[in-house]
Amino acid sequence: MVIKIHNTLTRKKEIFKPIKRDEINFFVCGPTAYSYAHIGNFKTYTQFDIIVNYLRHRKFKVNYIQNLTDIDDKIIHQAKESKEDPLKLSEKFCKIFIDDMESLDNTAVSKYIKATERLSDIISQVERLLKKEFAYQTSDGIYFNLEKNKDYGKLSGRTVLQAEDATTRVDHSKEKKNKGDFCLWKFSDEGISWDAPFGKGRPGWHIEDTAITEKEFGSQYDIHGGAVDLIFPHHEAEIAQMESISNKKPFVKYWMHTGFLDMKKEKMSKSVGNIITIRELLKKQKKETIRFFFASQHYRNRIEFSEEILEQSKNSLKKINDFITNLDKEDNDGTLKQLKEDFYNAMDDDFNTQKAITILYEFMNESNKTNTGGKQTLEFFKDINNIFKTFAFKGNIPKEIDDLAKERELARESKDWNQSDKLRSQIESKGYHIEDRKNGYALSGTGIPPI
Ligand SMILES: [Zn+2]
Repeated sequence: MVIKIHNTLTRKKEIFKPIKRDEINFFVCGPTAYSYAHIGNFKTYTQFDIIVNYLRHRKFKVNYIQNLTDIDDKIIHQAKESKEDPLKLSEKFCKIFIDDMESLDNTAVSKYIKATERLSDIISQVERLLKKEFAYQTSDGIYFNLEKNKDYGKLSGRTVLQAEDATTRVDHSKEKKNKGDFCLWKFSDEGISWDAPFGKGRPGWHIEDTAITEKEFGSQYDIHGGAVDLIFPHHEAEIAQMESISNKKPFVKYWMHTGFLDMKKEKMSKSVGNIITIRELLKKQKKETIRFFFASQHYRNRIEFSEEILEQSKNSLKKINDFITNLDKEDNDGTLKQLKEDFYNAMDDDFNTQKAITILYEFMNESNKTNTGGKQTLEFFKDINNIFKTFAFKGNIPKEIDDLAKERELARESKDWNQSDKLRSQIESKGYHIEDRKNGYALSGTGIPPI
């Protein structure tokens, strides 16, 4: 097995060799918890979920960590507007985010870590950067000195001078040595602050990720992921911080970046104001359809979202589900063997889910033509569904649930809506969903009751 990954750091597809043979330390930037995350964000999180599921499917042990930025200017600003305590506000949105992840079946993350849980590690990193003179102090904070880092720009290909435009409010200070120098610690008691040996304040954004990963993984690890807009300055800053502290290179071996989700040719973002939250979308579409939409594109592609495209995904997924429900014939061992080979080759090649799904369709067409496909084929689809979590299999629903659904069908026929609603909640409380169809109903679910 040879897995290849497109590495942003080298701008090349490389053969993947984890630092330890069969264990992977994997980090993806989580959200800043001040409002609902949108489906553009969930494109990234779902595609990394599928990638991590795949690596586990290939028998790697993956330690998958996501941070939650629960202290930041945006949070403080939002808390002021809504007259809330900033940490209460961010705690609420951290919970909402994790709920949203679960409602999309994004369950690959091993551990979520909040920035405020790791303040001592953040402070320790700032202290070491000061001691080694990579950082300096002004009257309003501690800043990283870009001039001291010869490698700055190696990930993004930008220069120190170009870093000027990439700073945010927290990075502003009249006393900075270089315009692009970024903030490690802000002296401030606006909203909230913590004691530190170098002065009371709060952490900058970039330092929380390296503080978390150093503690969890050490000063070097395998894969860091995020959306493409985080390459600069965020990920560039992470490299500068950690390589300056440890003097070990590379800080991260493989950098992976997902393409944007566009809406009407514009990147979906809070600042453009064209966002759809995952909660809104889940009212109209099943999680399987949304996951399948993300899976049918390569993670590095920039993709366009529309209700029509999602309808197409729904129909494409239905074709696979129809195929799976009719696997009651003889297997064709030759084509099945070829399918497996082609499928894994596509997935091993920089997680090309787009190609892998096309291969499934080709196989389905061939099987339909020759009227083949049975138990072994079904097993294969079940097996790869651990990666995608999108397909529906009959026979997964226990008899008890099916009985409730039949009883509900009778109640509906006699227009006893009260009883019908009661039976629906009973089904849902056991972790299943019932959807009414033109002729009958469809049951789905995992049997894991909602929290
Ligand atoms: Zn980050």
